[in-house]
Amino acid sequence: EAKRVGGSGWRAYDPSSALRRARSRLLEAEMRGALEQGQFFLLYQPQVALKSGRLVGAEALLRWQHPTLGMISPAEFIGIAETNGFICDLGQFMFKEACKAATSWPAHVSVAVNISPVQFLRGDLLADLRAALAVSGLAPHRLHVEITESMFLEKSEELFEKLNALRDLGVTIALDDFGTGYSSLSYISSLPLDKLKIDQSFIRDMVSDPAAQTIVQSITTLAHGLGLTLVCEGVENALQCEMLTALRCEEGQGYFFGRPQPARQILALSAAHSLLSGGEAITAGGLA
Ligand code: C2E
Ligand code: MG
Ligand code: MG
Ligand code: MG
Repeated sequence: EAKRVGGSGWRAYDPSSALRRARSRLLEAEMRGALEQGQFFLLYQPQVALKSGRLVGAEALLRWQHPTLGMISPAEFIGIAETNGFICDLGQFMFKEACKAATSWPAHVSVAVNISPVQFLRGDLLADLRAALAVSGLAPHRLHVEITESMFLEKSEELFEKLNALRDLGVTIALDDFGTGYSSLSYISSLPLDKLKIDQSFIRDMVSDPAAQTIVQSITTLAHGLGLTLVCEGVENALQCEMLTALRCEEGQGYFFGRPQPARQILALSAAHSLLSGGEAITAGGLA
């Protein structure tokens, strides 16, 4: 799938499958060296308290700046890195980077990292997170770990134990892309979670589609009933923002507040009085 975000330098690529396979093989062969050469970096997308408009956190999103292919989307390289196990090396790198970045922000601003199912099951996730926290000195609760429902397709005891070990580490646990998976609500309620992130597809459709609006409303009720903080992803305009505030959704993330951007710009935003007037004007220089 070719991806293009307003002049930010994503390259479209030929969708023919032979070319795509060739490209995948190339990326796979080059990703290890690319990490050593510093071609991977993180951008951070603002997360905002809807009531006050204040910055409360930022989600770390990986980017690969390839010397000849240009900017490569995580939607493309994460899948490859999952199949060859390289995702665990990428994880070590990004946990360290994200924790370090957060220590340069005020203490009320958290940083969120994404964990793929492969990372969660393979690799030494706990040790990697513990190391990143120790090296940076970041308070564990300021590290938010985003997991997805797809991890729970198999309801294994091991999984549950890992999740509890994460909880014991003191990090904050968020369930990402909520509403797109197949997990049962009773199972969700048995997990040690702190936050729910509603998938951006529901937010996108909410304004024009009453069904999507009903789903958002139901998820809000569910989250609050379970004592979880609700985060809405993909907030792109003021109308969505107003509707979500009316539904008493706590936090928002999306282009309306700001695009993914370098860590030092997050520091600048943390001083802003409110990001509710729309982040686009402030962050026009955002990279993606
Ligand atoms: P995600 O965790 O659901 O991240 C949100 C994605 O939505 C990001 O895309 C973000 O740029 C995009 N987004 C945010 N606000 C808006 C908006 O208002 N409108 C629209 N249309 N899109 C918005 P991105 O950065 O391309 O990341 C895609 C996915 O790649 C992420 O989805 C996450 O699952 C994965 N990913 C990114 N970085 C990492 C990482 O370091 N580790 C792992 N395991 N996965 C990662
Ligand atoms: Mg995420
Ligand atoms: Mg998400
Ligand atoms: Mg998503």
